[in-house]
Amino acid sequence: MNGLRCITCQREFSLNEPIWRCSCGGLLNIKFVAEFPIDIIQRRKPTLWRYREAIPIESDQHIISFDEGFTPLITIDFNGRLVLIKQDHLFATGSYKDRGASVLISKVKELGVNHVVEDSSGNAGCAIAAYCAKADITCDIFVPATTSTAKLAQIEMYGAYLHKIPGSREDTAAAVLQAAETNYYASHSWNPFFFQGTKTIAYEICEQLAWQAPDTIILPVGNGTLLLGVDIGFRDLFQAGVIETLPKLIAIQAEYCHPLALAFAQDQSQISSIIKKETLAEGIAIAKPIRGIEIMEAVRRSEGYFITVSETEIKTALYEMGRKGYYLEPTAAATIAGVKQYLCHQETEETIVSVFTGHGLKATQKIMDLL
Ligand SMILES: *Cc1c(COP(=O)(O)O)cnc(C)c1O
Ligand SMILES: [Zn+2]
Repeated sequence: MNGLRCITCQREFSLNEPIWRCSCGGLLNIKFVAEFPIDIIQRRKPTLWRYREAIPIESDQHIISFDEGFTPLITIDFNGRLVLIKQDHLFATGSYKDRGASVLISKVKELGVNHVVEDSSGNAGCAIAAYCAKADITCDIFVPATTSTAKLAQIEMYGAYLHKIPGSREDTAAAVLQAAETNYYASHSWNPFFFQGTKTIAYEICEQLAWQAPDTIILPVGNGTLLLGVDIGFRDLFQAGVIETLPKLIAIQAEYCHPLALAFAQDQSQISSIIKKETLAEGIAIAKPIRGIEIMEAVRRSEGYFITVSETEIKTALYEMGRKGYYLEPTAAATIAGVKQYLCHQETEETIVSVFTGHGLKATQKIMDLL
């Protein structure tokens, strides 16, 4: 019943196969029946591992954790409209990527793999490097040479081997794919175990709303690691009978790199290549997201849609959040710019949740340049 399944050829594998894609080259997803023993969950420590029966790691002794998760869900007033914000910039490495890294690196430990490779525009690399340090697993992290210096320093401090690749984010992805021919790829976009960690944000939101689903969730989308996790998480809760409705998913992309918003608007099932421009939202500047079709399906199924935000809107949101006492990295401000647009379209009262995805300390130089 439980297992890995290829989305291209439907072939199934055991959860204990040390593979990150199908032999046909297709993406793998995880079939796993999540359970929610609510009385027991509520007595556990406030970390993402309190949803133990919903996370496909077999043995507790393989869990690699900094007691992460259960981040505060706070209310922010946007000109009289209230929005609930999950403070996922408060994780140990400064972004929500710790959710995915904790579960994925626990699985790597369980598989007995002692060396992984990963590529990232920064934050996923930081998270994988930190959890590998804790797990005593060697890792090689590939990043574009233009990545924010704070993120580069962080990756090196965790003891990872850092490879700075000249050129675009896509050049970095090509470099790591070569390394992944002979190494386990702890990829936040390919590896399905990463999404089994990001899904826990849905469980936490649900518990923090007294086991109810919100009406709407507004999320950033580059490779969709948060959005697809949220989609899996709420469907787990729905299938287990914990909630009776599913939230609408609103996906935010930067105008300077919005391949999925474009394909969605044209109702394409194919994603055309786009010319991307350099955006403040470096963390979601993904020109060719490998799970793009899945992302569009999740948004469509939820009756949601895409919103794009301009550089000016990102900058304005960044400043506004700073003036309220929240120091964010510019990528995180893109989502908040999307929240503001959504509130303009939407008149009805509803429960809206969004997220602070990354801490401002990640992007000191970029923010200095803006000031
Ligand atoms: C990773 C990340 C995102 C979302 O990116 P995806 O590519 O969709 O997973 C958003 N904000 C920050 C700060 C991030 O690090
Ligand atoms: Zn296959």
